[in-house]
Amino acid sequence: MKYRLACIYCDREDFDGVSKLPNDWTFVERHQTHRQSTRPYDDPSKAPPEFVVFNWFTHLGICPKCQ
Ligand SMILES: [Zn+2]
Repeated sequence: MKYRLACIYCDREDFDGVSKLPNDWTFVERHQTHRQSTRPYDDPSKAPPEFVVFNWFTHLGICPKCQ
C-alpha cells in the first residue's frame, strides 16, 4: 500500500505516494483508509467533516522543516 502523506503546515508534496512512512515526521493521526483516499466523495456534503478538508491524504503529519 502507498501512503499519501501531507504536512499540516506547508504544502510539500514529496511524500505523497510513498510506500514507507518517514521516521523524521511527527504524525498527527491516520485520517482515512486507503480506499477512501483513492477517490473523493461524489457528494462532499455527505462526507464526515474531517474528510472534506483532507479528502485525498491517508496520513497527516508535521514534516521535519516545520517541527
Ligand atoms: Zn511542513
